[in-house]
Amino acid sequence: MSDDFLSLGLSAPLLKAVEQLGYEQPSPIQVQTIPILLNGKNLLGTAQTGTGKTAAFALPLLNNLKQQHSPQILVLTPTRELAIQVAEAFQSYAKYIRGFQVLPVYGGTNISAQLRSLKRGVQVVVGTPGRILDHLRRHSLDLSHVTGLVLDEADEMLRMGFIDDVEAILSQTPDHCQRALFSATMPPAIKRVASTYLGEAVHISIKSKTKTVERIQQHYATVKAHQKMDVLTRVLEVESFDGVLIFVRTRSATVNIAEQLEARGFLSAAINGDLSQALRERTINRLKAGQIDVLVATDVAARGLDVDRISHVINFDIPYDNESYVHRIGRTGRAGRDGKAILFITPKENRLLRSIEKSTGQAILPLTIPTNKDVKDQRIQQFTQQLLKTMNTSRLDQFRDMILTFASQNELDMADIAAALAYEHQKERPLFPKLDNIVAPRLPNSSKKMGNKKPGPSRTLCDEDGHVIPLVTYRLEVGIDDGVAPANIVGAIANEADISSKYIGQIKLYERYSTVDLPEGMPDSVFHHLKKAWVCSKPMNISLLNRHKGS
Ligand code: AMP
Repeated sequence: MSDDFLSLGLSAPLLKAVEQLGYEQPSPIQVQTIPILLNGKNLLGTAQTGTGKTAAFALPLLNNLKQQHSPQILVLTPTRELAIQVAEAFQSYAKYIRGFQVLPVYGGTNISAQLRSLKRGVQVVVGTPGRILDHLRRHSLDLSHVTGLVLDEADEMLRMGFIDDVEAILSQTPDHCQRALFSATMPPAIKRVASTYLGEAVHISIKSKTKTVERIQQHYATVKAHQKMDVLTRVLEVESFDGVLIFVRTRSATVNIAEQLEARGFLSAAINGDLSQALRERTINRLKAGQIDVLVATDVAARGLDVDRISHVINFDIPYDNESYVHRIGRTGRAGRDGKAILFITPKENRLLRSIEKSTGQAILPLTIPTNKDVKDQRIQQFTQQLLKTMNTSRLDQFRDMILTFASQNELDMADIAAALAYEHQKERPLFPKLDNIVAPRLPNSSKKMGNKKPGPSRTLCDEDGHVIPLVTYRLEVGIDDGVAPANIVGAIANEADISSKYIGQIKLYERYSTVDLPEGMPDSVFHHLKKAWVCSKPMNISLLNRHKGS
């Protein structure tokens, strides 16, 4: 456990959980936020996903938790996915707090399980505004003992039209309860909520100094978390590199990734805060000497690392802030050489990318993810080059005689024998690999219009006879993050509701949900049928957008 975490003043059970999760040092927002919240002050934080903000509020609030069964901490999130994610984070940080219970509550699911859990007693509730309000109306959720309240991704809640619900909930929390609001941006409506409900809050934002990183070519690839390893392998296959430094967030990830890379034939090692100084130095020396080519490191372990042959820095996990990005990529482009930095971002982390670009004043260009064909071409080129080298430098007389005898005894064609040898040789690392197709996820806020429908706010479409059909907008709880494309939505609606695709209007895809315009006056029976429909293995949970609040 690093001194940094110890010095924050968190209790032993929390430190143990953090240690077990492999966190080596608190992120900048955690360093700033934890002491303030431990002190019982209100907080207004400008922070986006990926900065470690969940632990920044969850750890201190858990630290102040008393053993009681009515909810003490309430976290409001814009979406069910975030509610689940935050609830899971609470659960993992509270692993060593006895009797701890957290409940995510969100709409689109049967309410009775939530009612049962609330009755049994939970200390932390994480939920979307609509469903929380629903519970308040049913008196199934008691906020009178709430001592800590968090609004997470407040600007997102505003954007999704939940701000009235949020205020209705805030007005029902005890006056003395501690409050924290996190938002990536601070539009006026959020500032107003903050000034009404947060009083004398301490403001936190992660400021970054700008630095120049001119000698370094910077690229990013938008990938889903589970695709990162695959993309990393492809990049390493096709890039011509000397030494590579890969940054990840946790100790366990350093080991895990180094092992996977070793298994794929890259000479790799991990360094993290667990390593003794001597072992760390020995590993770095192996990189310097070319005994290994790839080093997978946490920020802590890479402190002060200075190796000229690092041609590539790969940010497998995005750094917490701009400064640490600049710091990380500065490990390449040393000693007057050029360097390349590649950053993996998940679709949700897009904002951090833009903020890095803004602070360095340099564009980070999209990386073309190597395709199956690129990898194949590269492997074949390496293989044939190796063959030429062997033919030029090795003594092959015995082998040639053996092959000639074999060919004449069996009346075989030389090309067939060579092909069989090549086949045997490439079994471990196929020359014609069959890699999964990687489709870059679309970034948030991309939208796609369908067919010949009239776009824009008028929300109508014309049928073939020129009749104008008014449309209303529905919301579906599936989005880009679920791998949904407009065609999937059209398909699901057309099949389930028997609505011809020509009557399906504009579709907009967002990260975690989407909207679709459909003809006004949908019969109840059709609506109920659609409500149960699935798209891309997820229930679409259709609802009328205007009536839809947090559920
Ligand atoms: P968040 O910004 O809260 O969505 O967190 C992003 C990711 O960073 C999550 O996967 C966390 O588990 C991870 N994380 C948060 N704090 C730390 C830390 N101090 N060290 C390593 N990973 C962390």
